[in-house]
Amino acid sequence: MYSYALFAEVSVLAREKGGLISGILPGSIAEELGIEVRDRLISINGQPLEDIIDYNFLSADELLQLELLAADGETYYCEVEKDEEEELGIMFSANVFDRIRSCANRCHFCFIDQLQPDPRPSMLLKDDDYRMSFLEGSFITGTNLIEKDFQRIERLHLSPLYFSVHVTDADLREQLMGTKRAREVMPTLQRLIDIGCELHTQLVICPGINDGEYLQKSLDDLSALYPGVISIAVVPVGLTKFNTKDDLRLFTPQEAAELIDAVEARQAEFRAKYGTSLVYIADELYIKAGRPFPPAAHYEGFPQIENGVGMAALFHQQWQSALHQLPESYDGGPIGLVTGINGAAVLRQLLPDLQKVQGLQLDILPLVSEFYGESVTASGLITGSDILRQVPRGKYERLLIPTNMLKFDEDIFLDDLTLEEVEAGLGQELEINLNNGAGLLRQLFRLPEEEPDEDFDADFDYDDEDYGVICEYIEDEEYIEEEEEE
Ligand code: SF4
Repeated sequence: MYSYALFAEVSVLAREKGGLISGILPGSIAEELGIEVRDRLISINGQPLEDIIDYNFLSADELLQLELLAADGETYYCEVEKDEEEELGIMFSANVFDRIRSCANRCHFCFIDQLQPDPRPSMLLKDDDYRMSFLEGSFITGTNLIEKDFQRIERLHLSPLYFSVHVTDADLREQLMGTKRAREVMPTLQRLIDIGCELHTQLVICPGINDGEYLQKSLDDLSALYPGVISIAVVPVGLTKFNTKDDLRLFTPQEAAELIDAVEARQAEFRAKYGTSLVYIADELYIKAGRPFPPAAHYEGFPQIENGVGMAALFHQQWQSALHQLPESYDGGPIGLVTGINGAAVLRQLLPDLQKVQGLQLDILPLVSEFYGESVTASGLITGSDILRQVPRGKYERLLIPTNMLKFDEDIFLDDLTLEEVEAGLGQELEINLNNGAGLLRQLFRLPEEEPDEDFDADFDYDDEDYGVICEYIEDEEYIEEEEEE
């Protein structure tokens, strides 16, 4: 229940503050108030809005005075009386209303610095914003946090946050991140924990630089902050052909295997001490080392799934959940599954299941990123031009590409070719497949959706990476028992 009053004031705000409204829910309070898309919500009860965190916090009150700026420049106000749990029904074009804060670092291994000479402007955003970390799980480095930020994080209980540590040794962190501010990582982490934050952390490892003893020390220091630090991801550095740093290189298979061994030893130690593995290894390292992935249970709820940690296991779990729908036969023509090098290694492990389907002709088509170089193996960095150059014409009745080859909200590839242009070049349509195992199985055989299993989210999609699974399937309970015995 709510009531409202609406009145206009003819004064034009010179500034453009507040949140740009991109949608109004039908039947909502906002619709009844006459609030329109392209208006800006400036303040609630006199409090200016910096971001959607302010909006969510302030709009929970029962009595609201909204200050808005119409698209024609007129300021108007709305008064609302509503139940506490009632929402206004306003959607915004962005989560952060002022500028997303960029990083103050010059990291030696920065991936953004290795993009092609003329990348899309949105790809150049070096965000380092605690609000995006809270809202979207992006990583911060702590080097641009000021007193006001710590106070706001504490006041609004902004937790968990995602924190790029890379190394806890102060000298090496300064050197790696190109700023003296990077030295203060341990006090910064401690302060965040003291004000109530839980932290998911990551260590981007450059072979020969912050691995070995540095990695061991980082794990010592971060694990000592448990349960304030609730997860640690060990992720290999990513390099493109535009890298100019001589001392940066990729892991060799042998180095990847040694790293896995070293980290798995620490996992066993942490399980004995804390009851959790605490540190998790990126899928890419298992692929590089040619090792099987741990099963889904190992990832303890997938705390860093968006970071490429456990995606393969989740994909496999999803695939298994839909396997009972696998048909005995398929009477269509050949299918091509377009993917990157990592995705192909993973998808190949599904072939034993797929080979049981009579009449199915399916090829996995691993594409090389000519744009960024062969060292870039994620399907999300495959471009439209890569597809046009490498996918054979007329061989497949159906071609599937993963959704992460396209921009998040548009049918455009990384090199700005549109889906339509690539389809025209190939002379056939491309089917977009979701990045989840159950979805892939259903799409391949055009099967209906099923009611989701309550035990896990079989339809969880991820957009940033593209791993399937190469693990030998181990029953989760059996695996947990083995871990406990260790
Ligand atoms: S913090 Fe991230 S974006 Fe900024 S320089 Fe370092 S790696 Fe690049």
